[in-house]
Amino acid sequence: MDNRYTAVSGEEMLDSRGREVSFRVILTLLLLGLVHLDRLGIDLGAEISYTPLYILAAFYLLFTAVIYLSYGIMGLKGSMRMVTGALDIAFFCAALYFCGGVESYLFLLLGIAPLIGGIYEGYWGALYAFALCAAFYGVVAAVDVSHAAGYDLAQALAFRYAYLAVATAVNLFVIDLLLRDRARLKVFYEISVSSSKSPALYSVLKEITQRLAELSRAEITLVYLYDEKTGVLEPQQPSLGLDFVSTAKLRVKAGDPGVISDCLREGRALLISRSLSQSMEISPFHPDYKVFDLIACPLAARGKSIGVLVLANKLNRRGFGRRDLEMVELLSPHISVFIDNALLYRRSEEKVAQLTSLIRVVDAISTVSNLDQLYNLALDVIRGLFAAEKALLCIVDRDTGLMETVRSFGFSLDYVQRHLGRPIERIRDCYVLEQDEAYLCGDLASDPSCPNMAVDPHTRSVLCVPIRAGKKIYGILHMASRYQDAFDSEDATLAKAIGEQIGMAVESARLFEEISRLAITDEMTGLYNIRHLKRVLGEEVKRSLRYERPLSFIMLDIDFFKNYNDRHGHLRGDEVLRVLAGLLRQNTRDVDSVFRYGGEEFSVIIPEVGKQEALAMAERIRRVVQDHVFPFEEDQPGGNLTVSMGVANLPEDALDAEELIDKADRALYQAKQYGRNRVCAYHLVNDFTSRRLHGSAEE
Ligand code: GH3
Ligand code: MG
Ligand code: MG
Repeated sequence: MDNRYTAVSGEEMLDSRGREVSFRVILTLLLLGLVHLDRLGIDLGAEISYTPLYILAAFYLLFTAVIYLSYGIMGLKGSMRMVTGALDIAFFCAALYFCGGVESYLFLLLGIAPLIGGIYEGYWGALYAFALCAAFYGVVAAVDVSHAAGYDLAQALAFRYAYLAVATAVNLFVIDLLLRDRARLKVFYEISVSSSKSPALYSVLKEITQRLAELSRAEITLVYLYDEKTGVLEPQQPSLGLDFVSTAKLRVKAGDPGVISDCLREGRALLISRSLSQSMEISPFHPDYKVFDLIACPLAARGKSIGVLVLANKLNRRGFGRRDLEMVELLSPHISVFIDNALLYRRSEEKVAQLTSLIRVVDAISTVSNLDQLYNLALDVIRGLFAAEKALLCIVDRDTGLMETVRSFGFSLDYVQRHLGRPIERIRDCYVLEQDEAYLCGDLASDPSCPNMAVDPHTRSVLCVPIRAGKKIYGILHMASRYQDAFDSEDATLAKAIGEQIGMAVESARLFEEISRLAITDEMTGLYNIRHLKRVLGEEVKRSLRYERPLSFIMLDIDFFKNYNDRHGHLRGDEVLRVLAGLLRQNTRDVDSVFRYGGEEFSVIIPEVGKQEALAMAERIRRVVQDHVFPFEEDQPGGNLTVSMGVANLPEDALDAEELIDKADRALYQAKQYGRNRVCAYHLVNDFTSRRLHGSAEE
């Protein structure tokens, strides 16, 4: 124990009974010694009946020995001491009865034994009894010297008064004991009623500190809660007699010197009182906070230390005694249970809050359809749920296969950019990717850090989880904090669950994108299919009508393709279709959309372009196809694989999508009619329809 202070525990206080016992033994021996004066022929000047004295002394010695053994072996406390007190007084009375004269003085000495013992043990009853008896015996002794007749009367009176005094003392003692028990029960009852009404830690602590202060008349009552993980004993508010700032200052570490951590370590209640400590100037609490008496009692529940209860006095003249220590020891198991329940309650509330947010996250994530929204939401969730000051959300890019930071906060742009674009298989020694497990590090200073983290010196704790769906890893969620133990294993579990949710959302968003893409794509050529054409053309028509902008449309058909297929097979024909698709893509603008209309027919939507310009574009395409050397094209009529095209325009030739397609188709038909490998615009083909359209457009 630290020698800056002197403290005793309840067990050490029990040893004061040893002192009482030795006192009894010494007194008995003294008595026997005095009796031996008779043997030595020393006349004490009075008629003494020695035989009962011997017997009494022997019995007293035996009795003392039995008491001593009872204390030691059975640890008997209150009730046994009551019996010994009563027996002491009985011996005294017996001595008065059997003996006369000077031997009574010896028995007076013998009677002082329980008196002294009583003081040690706090027997107020014994003290009263002896005060009375001694006074009466003084009278008896005085009468004994001069008047023999008065002596008998005085002796009888003394005997009766002594008897009354004993009875009163015993009663007082018992009542005192009962009242104390009642007060303890009341405290226990009040705390339990209050904690069942409001199980919140705050109100439980408030009730405990107030009730204990009332019971012990302590000026300061404070509960420390022990955090096993950090090893810190945190003083709690509300406390009694301490303001918020002083309470916060009294924080101690479990290993620090001082009575609080000693109490926790030794697991027993300690008392520091003025009577025991030489220098109360040294505070057992805190160098800046001086107290004069202090009781510290460990609190334990479910086999674990949960904290320390402290009662202290700054000025109180009464000071703490063994009774206060006993009272605290007796109440502490119950207090521990109340506090433990409040902690469990708080924990369960936190758990419920966490689960609620997890459900909200799952809910929100499952309704998000686009990845950008999902990433934003994920970041908000991380900010709200974890004590992270920095976070990176890294996702493997589907096209490039690189792990890229899609969202982050707290990290410098430089850091984020340095960690951009690494292929997942080239990220070496990544715990999360290798183990498919959460990586949790409470203190980078002591733990070996993850080799992939270029952590700055301020980062103390890290939590990293995989973002995955089933077996497939989509990325990593990395969180960091500059505080030690910012994340715990429950955070890791929660983060893992969130990582899985994000993973599943990424997977379904990607599947959705893929299905959407497939739904509008022609598998063979990679161009858009006819289904998409209908939609896009409908939208483009609406737009161009609304803004009064031109829109052109090309229909394209390969010339004599049946011939090509018949001669060289469909597989080679397919290859021609693919090559032609590429040529069309290369020779149109980004804003134009190329479609496979079906079979060997293609179409191009050309927004914002008038008919003449569209004709020119079509002509250019025609020439490109003509000039391109297709395999075996020499077997085609004319020795070349060519295409024919029809061009129509909105609003010149048509006013809706269907009509536009139809007009372009008719123009194509004309191109075929005129000998193929050429481009025809619609109005050149059908003057009547063209004029009618012009007329209606002008109207
Ligand atoms: P033209 O257009 O010049 O009048 O003569 P054509 O022989 O090309 O006649 P048409 O436009 O009617 O061509 C239809 C032929 O296109 C039939 C078929 O052999 C071929 N074809 C259609 N779809 C495919 C396809 O997906 N793959 C292949 N290899 N050939 C196709
Ligand atoms: Mg055709
Ligand atoms: Mg054809």
